[in-house]
Amino acid sequence: MRMETERTYLPVVNKVRCTGCGDCTIACPVDVDLKKQNEPTILIVTNGLCIVQTPEACDGCGNCVSACSQDAIHIELVGGTAEIKL
Ligand code: SF4
Ligand code: SF4
Repeated sequence: MRMETERTYLPVVNKVRCTGCGDCTIACPVDVDLKKQNEPTILIVTNGLCIVQTPEACDGCGNCVSACSQDAIHIELVGGTAEIKL
């Protein structure tokens, strides 16, 4: 039996590669909107490192990945169609 589960996207930061430059959150269209609304952004730079604070808001556009010169962020797909046994 196939079962649909909600697809979500999870930004993942490589803590060794990340320089904390902030280019990813500047390039993220969702973060731009969230900043305007004074809401917590998906990505935030703190203590020189990018932290993923609200991954549920990510729509998987990939702009952060393109913007990162250090190849320090990627997007993982969670959920989708799954095969289950009854
Ligand atoms: S753009 Fe890359 S290096 Fe810069 S803060 Fe984001 S993940 Fe880190
Ligand atoms: S994939 Fe798009 S929405 Fe998700 S964090 Fe990166 S830029 Fe923002």
